[in-house]
Formats: sequence, C-alpha cells, structure tokens
Amino acid sequence: MRAYRIKVQGIVQAVGFRPFVYRIAHAHNLRGYVRNLGDAGVEIVVEGREEDIEAFLRDLYTRKPPLARIDRLERKEIPPQGFDRFYIEKSSQEGEGGNSIIPPDIAICEDCLRELFDPANKRYMYPFIVCTNCGPRFTIIEDLPYDRENTTMKEFSMCDFCESEYKDPLNRRYHAEPVCCPVCGPSYRLYTNDGQEITGDPLKKAAKLIDKGYIVAIKGIGGIHLACDATREDIVAELRRRTFRPQKPFAIMARDLETVKSFAYVSPEEEEELMSYRRPIIALRKKDPFPLPDNLAPGLHTIGVMLPYAATHYLLFHHSKTPVYVMTSANYPGKPMVKDNEEAFKELREIADYFLLHNRKILNRADDSVVRFVDGKRAVIRRSRGFVPLPIEIPFEYNGLAVGAELMNAFGIAKGGKVYPSQYIGNTSKVEVLEFMREAIAHFRRILRVKELDLIVADLHPSYNTTKLAMEIANELNVEFLQVQHHYAHVASVMAEHGLEEVVGIALDGVGYGTDGKVWGGEVIYLGYEDVERLAHIAYYPLPGGDIASYYPLRALMGILSKVYDVEELEGIIRGYCPRAIESLKYGETEFKVALGQLVRGINVAYASSTGRVLDALAVLLNVVYRRHYEGEPAMKLESFAMKGKNDLKLEVPVEGKTIKVEELFVDVLDLLEKASPADIAYSVHIAMARTFAEVAVEKAREFGVKAVALSGGVAYNELITKTIRKIVEANGLRFYSTYEVPRGDNGINVGQAFLGGLYLEGYLSRDDLTM
Ligand SMILES: [Zn+2]
Ligand SMILES: [Zn+2]
Ligand SMILES: [Zn+2]
Repeated sequence: MRAYRIKVQGIVQAVGFRPFVYRIAHAHNLRGYVRNLGDAGVEIVVEGREEDIEAFLRDLYTRKPPLARIDRLERKEIPPQGFDRFYIEKSSQEGEGGNSIIPPDIAICEDCLRELFDPANKRYMYPFIVCTNCGPRFTIIEDLPYDRENTTMKEFSMCDFCESEYKDPLNRRYHAEPVCCPVCGPSYRLYTNDGQEITGDPLKKAAKLIDKGYIVAIKGIGGIHLACDATREDIVAELRRRTFRPQKPFAIMARDLETVKSFAYVSPEEEEELMSYRRPIIALRKKDPFPLPDNLAPGLHTIGVMLPYAATHYLLFHHSKTPVYVMTSANYPGKPMVKDNEEAFKELREIADYFLLHNRKILNRADDSVVRFVDGKRAVIRRSRGFVPLPIEIPFEYNGLAVGAELMNAFGIAKGGKVYPSQYIGNTSKVEVLEFMREAIAHFRRILRVKELDLIVADLHPSYNTTKLAMEIANELNVEFLQVQHHYAHVASVMAEHGLEEVVGIALDGVGYGTDGKVWGGEVIYLGYEDVERLAHIAYYPLPGGDIASYYPLRALMGILSKVYDVEELEGIIRGYCPRAIESLKYGETEFKVALGQLVRGINVAYASSTGRVLDALAVLLNVVYRRHYEGEPAMKLESFAMKGKNDLKLEVPVEGKTIKVEELFVDVLDLLEKASPADIAYSVHIAMARTFAEVAVEKAREFGVKAVALSGGVAYNELITKTIRKIVEANGLRFYSTYEVPRGDNGINVGQAFLGGLYLEGYLSRDDLTM
C-alpha cells in the first residue's frame, strides 16, 4: 500500500472538483480525503494500491469537470495513516462566497444528453435535465453562497428521488443546485401570441410550427430567442420585416456539427470552440456557393453559427425536420433581450406567432456570446453566456467599478486582483439598457460581496450615459471617480490579459473621445506603468455633421477628400464614382448640398482620426455600402468585399511626423479606380493601412526600447489588417499581442479601464496622464 499527499493548483474550487475527486477515489478503491486550501488550491490525500493511485491521477486530468483547470500538481509520498474511507473535509470559511468562483452557464454534458434520449431514464425528454457538470448557473444565481435557496430554482422543491441524488456524493448530481425532474422541476408551455395555451407536448408542437414556417419565441437559458426555419428565404425576410432589422446578420443554430460543415468552413480551432461548454456563436466563413438564404447575413462572407447548448434545443431538433434555425435574441433594436414571460407577450406579440415559455425565472440576462477566429486565434466579440462571470487577473488589488464605454457595453468589477466583466449590456444610449446596467451592477456587487468601492472608472467622453451613471454612483457612495481616455483603455486591456508592463499599442476603432476633444480611432500609443503617450495617429479629417457621419459614411468620404480637393472637385468625384451614395442620404440631394456647405464653412464639423470611418468612406467610394444599419456594417462589408481581391497594388500611406496621411491613400485609390478591380483596391487598402500602422509601431518600439506591440479596438476583428500587422511586427523580432479572452472592441474596454484604475491608485499614472 502506498500513500500520497497531492496538492492541486488551478481552478479547482467551486467548480465541483471535490465531489469529482470523491467519486474517482471511490471508483479506484482509494481512501483518504480531499479538502480546499486557503490559497484556492486543493489538497488530496490518498491511500491504496499503486496502480489504483496511478489510474486515479489519470482520471484527475482527463475526466475533470468542465470548468476545472489544473495548472500544477505536486505529489509527495507519505506514510499510510490507515484511513477507513474516503471523505470530503469541509473547510471552515465555506459558504462565505466572495472569493469563490461563480460558475458560468454550461452547455448540457454528454452524460445528461445520453440520459435525455434514454427512454428508461427518469428524465427522458425532460428539457431541464442537469448535473454538476452542466446547466444554468450565472443566469439563475440570486445571491451567495451558491446553493439552491439562492437560485431561481428555490420555487421548485426537490422530490425524494432528486434529493437522494443531490445528497449522494457518489452521484453525478451531488450538490448540483438546479437538479430536478419532470415530477418536481420547471416545465414548458406553448401559447399563441394572444396568450392561449396550446395543449399537447409543447416542444414537439413548437418544432412542428417552426417546420411549418412560423416564428416562435423560445425561452431558454439566458433570455428569449426568436426562432424560425433558416433554410427559407421568405421566412427570414418576414422576420427581418417584423424585427426592423433590414441588414444585421442573424445568428443561426444548426442541428449538429455535420450540418454546420455543409454550409460553412470549420477549422479545428473553430470546431473545438463550437463544441466547448461555452457554445458561443462563431462567425464562420460561408461556403461558396452558400446553400442557405443570402438574407441571413447579407453582404458578409461570414455567418454566425452556434450548436445546441440546452436540452431544449436538442429536443426541438429531435422533433423537427428543419436542420437549421434562425436563433436571434428577441429584442427591438437597441433594447435588452426580453427574458420574462409577461414581458414577452407585451413586447413580442407583433413579432412571434407562438411562444414556447417555461416557468423558471431568468434572473440574470445573458445573451449568446459571439466569437470570431482572426488570424487563427479566438477574438471575442460579445462576451456573455458561457464566459460570464469568470474573471481576468490584473496585478492590482482594489475594489472598483469600471463602467465601459457606450455601445456593445459591459462593465467590470475589480476585486482581489481580478476584474469580473459583466454580461453583455448593450447600447447604453438607450434608457432601458442603462436601467438594465444599473441592476446588473447592483447584482454583481452583491454576488461578489463588493460593498465598499475604492474607485469608479469611466470613459473620458462627457456625454456617454455610462460616464454620467458612474459620476452618479460615485457621488452617491462618496467614491473617487476617474475618467480615462478610450484608446488608452483599449491598449491597457491587452496589457491586462497578458500581464505586460509596457507596450507600443495600436488602437484601431470607430470612435473614442480624445484628450483634445477630437474623435480618435487610429492611434499608436506608448503605455507603460510610468507613462502614457500618443505617438502617432491618422491625420485629422473633418466629419461634416459630426456623429451622423457614422450612419451615412458618405460624409466621412467627403471629409477625407476635402483635405485634398476643393468643393467643385469633390462634388465631381462623388457624382462620378458613387452617385447612389447621394440618393441614400436621408434627404438626398439637399442633404448632400448641406454637407458640402458644412465643409466649406467649417460649421457643425467634427475632426477625426478614426480608422473605422476611413474604412467606411472607402466602402462608399467602392459602392459596397452607403448606409450603416448596425455597428460596424460598412467596414465589415468592405472586408468581405476585400476578401475577393488578391493582388496587392502596393498602395502607400505617407507618414509625416506624428500623422498618418490617409487622404493621400484616397488620391491613389481615385487614380486606380479605372485601372484595377474594386476588390483588389479594397484588399490593397487594408494591407496598406495595416502595413503603415505596423511600421510606425515597430519604429516607435525600437525608439522606446519596447519588446511588445499590442493591437486592440474594433478593427482588430479584421482578418486582413490583424494578420498583416502581426506578420510585420514578428518579422521585426518583436512580440505581437492582441486579446483572446477580453473582447477587442468596446465590449472589453472595462478590463482596460480597471487596469488603468489600478495604475492610478498605485501612484504610477496620474489623472492628467490618463486624460490629457
Ligand atoms: Zn450534465
Ligand atoms: Zn425530482
Ligand atoms: Zn473603442
């Protein structure tokens, strides 16, 4: 007989690790105990036969719970003490909460899936089947400690059968808080859109209704989806009409991986992510020809796809002939996703024909997460279900709130050397969304046990609702308030994720308020613990009408061209190359004249260095798109268009001092319009922009003696630009970093804000450094 003391480090607490150890110890006839250590590790003592211990250790690695992660394992042989059994030793501070990990929602596991379709199983075809390794978590947690009484499952008292499983350490459902069965748990009901209940098997009937072409609102894990047959163009068009979404791509859910592969390319990394317990939506490259309707994702070379993640989805596909559903969050544009039954009938009556609803409350809304693989690596676009509330480590210990920016928002709570980014909040310029954010902040502070705050961090933009909300909370709680420049925060998010101390950062995105009051977004920035400095940027160009130029990118094109051409020439160019852009303005010809007048007189004109607007302007000039219906649309469609180009026309963007003169690039493009294919031009502009930023960053990194170049901002989701920058940076012997966990766009800016807040509190950077 042998005995070992084993110390395990990693993510091993509050993820079902001890019951798991208990079960495998029993399976291998070992005795001893397992207990949590104060340093977030776990100690295991086992006694038994050598080969059993070896088998136990193998299982420890290969069969661990989905959220558990083993970073380090130390094993030391000790004298056997003659334990008579294996047990779980309870620790003294257990149940305190606060420092334990609150798990995210986890896709249904293989074991539960098998039971779901096993006619002999008690939970056969039961959509709320769960175990310790899977099911809803974050979305049902009201408070800590994480036990049933503090979840929305408290309304369902366990039957004897469920309770016996819940209390049996050898059972897979030992302490699985949401455990339930058809006898004691929640259930689905199907209704017409005027609230009449339809009798019969609700899931089976809903599946048949989808097959027949109806739009069904389906309550799931983190909110309500609108589902319909994604293989029929007329139904997708009807859904667009009813949801007022003429262009925005719809996410789809496919029955299985094989189905996904019939219409999209899936790399091994993408496959792994698609199948992961997070089950995010992944923007996959469409096959050409694309066998599904074009209006699912008009004008894009990608399609957002996810696989079933709840038993409900598996059951629907089981009963359905349709292999692919549209599965889009049920909301009016800009508003939070609908999650409650009553609200569903009120808000979605005109959109959905039928409602498939269950009677378990969704406490915390969580939209589906969205990722895209860029340059072979995961880029998170929307970090929500499956990710939240897992934290990101930062090297600063303070209690703080970072409120993010405005669009695609999420906030973050800093505590104990970690930032906990919230679920996706949305467009905070809308009152309803801001209200949701207020509630979510209160909830995060409760579950993380953050009563006192040391600092509240907001964006520098004076009129963001989040800035105002942050000031309000700071006043109310008498907490110090700090604003930080938008792109400094983007760059800081990369430092946070990788634990870097200094970088030359490239921040490329749409809009962010600059320290000089101008609209930044094409920036090269030095950021270190002791200093921050704006090193180079796109030369300012006028945006006639200011913000409105985001929606009508013709205005950005006019602004950029006005730096080189006078008004008559400018008018001639637009009428000659993209006359339809004028018609697409809200007031057509009249508005065009007004915008020209604004440029001449310099009235109602903003000045920008935004990369997003430059790409938007090119999208107009090449007649790819004239209007923005959703965030990022022109630039995304331009990228899709550029993917069809192959020749690098070797365009150049001159750099003069600190400024990158994109207007010169447009002069060259105009010259090429009649000689080269528009797709080649689009491709070459991407390469030229990327090359210029990379070269400037490399030069500055050398000058400052910095080894790392960081890329962030919404344009960092662009494959061509990111890949080109990465290659040039690496070819010059420097290390390239972007983020793979924290969103690169404004959804991740809270992490950078929290990092900068830490630098400020520790006295490295001053208020002036971050705002001037
Ligand atoms: Zn399970
Ligand atoms: Zn039960
Ligand atoms: Zn941004």
